[in-house]
Amino acid sequence: MGDTIFGKIIRREIPADIVYEDDDVLAFRDLNPQAPVHVLFVPKKPIATLDGATVADAELLGKLLLAAAAYARREGLADEGYRTVINCNEHGGQTVFHLHVHLLGGRQMHWPPG
Ligand code: C5P
Repeated sequence: MGDTIFGKIIRREIPADIVYEDDDVLAFRDLNPQAPVHVLFVPKKPIATLDGATVADAELLGKLLLAAAAYARREGLADEGYRTVINCNEHGGQTVFHLHVHLLGGRQMHWPPG
């Protein structure tokens, strides 16, 4: 699997505005935010896409979502609500091929997404 810009962020080879870290997950602010709060939750294990995840990754995927939910609660987003997004491959709009959960909050979201 090829390295990505997120691998470089995880290894601290390039800077990012990191807001959360544990043994398995790193979270940092998106460089091109689409909402007042836009944070990316990234597994340290370099899974390229959601399609590439396996049952062996089930606990890790759960940790990613729970880390995003806990962050949203800490930031006071939970009552009004927020959105989590995982883009997968070309039609999903994925541009960085290291699985990540977008957490978007602080404004009204709309449906359907573009
Ligand atoms: O889901 P997708 O792959 O399109 O999301 C990648 C995200 O990574 C984009 O929202 C982009 O702004 C963000 N990004 C970043 N820092 C980088 C490169 C990309 O926050 N150095």
